[in-house]
Amino acid sequence: MPEITLKCSCGTVKGKTKSVNGSSGTRITCCCDDCQSFAQYLKQESNVLDQYGGTDIFQMPISNIKITEGIEQISSVRLSAEGLYRWHTKCCNTPIGNSMGAGVPSIGVIHNFMDNASTRDEELGKNRGHIQTKFAYQEVPADLRGSTFKIVLRSLSKLIVWKIKGLNKPSAFFHDNGEPITKPNILN
Ligand SMILES: [Zn+2]
Ligand SMILES: [Zn+2]
Repeated sequence: MPEITLKCSCGTVKGKTKSVNGSSGTRITCCCDDCQSFAQYLKQESNVLDQYGGTDIFQMPISNIKITEGIEQISSVRLSAEGLYRWHTKCCNTPIGNSMGAGVPSIGVIHNFMDNASTRDEELGKNRGHIQTKFAYQEVPADLRGSTFKIVLRSLSKLIVWKIKGLNKPSAFFHDNGEPITKPNILN
């Protein structure tokens, strides 16, 4: 299983994952309007979103991510006071990933932060499909649509295992006391 190099588009923020493969996480493409708003907030729609307005994400344990360089360039935004932490770099507005609070052991890493565009299918397995397709920019063909039921079930069962294993710590994004490493920019 490969370790995946993590890198923002300008190369200031770098890191790596622990060894992962398709069964270590859940790869999906989220078409929801919040993920689209995040790409717009970063002015990165054309780099982040596919033709359907979807974001290719790999959900994995947050403790399996290590930031090795440029951590001071990491920031986050919450689209509302209770919204997800949407992590990104300040140097070049690369989206990093989406997480809940410090107690939740999962992060959905966004494809732009993984340096594996040409080997992604090999390393992370085939995408399990587009979800939240009612927000898609255009009709998503049936063969690209994922089963929300199966994906939610898979994500939840992984989350439970990761929680039991305590994979919310150590975290590159939260201090041990549960505070985020930087104060999020809360919109609205
Ligand atoms: Zn950068
Ligand atoms: Zn989404």
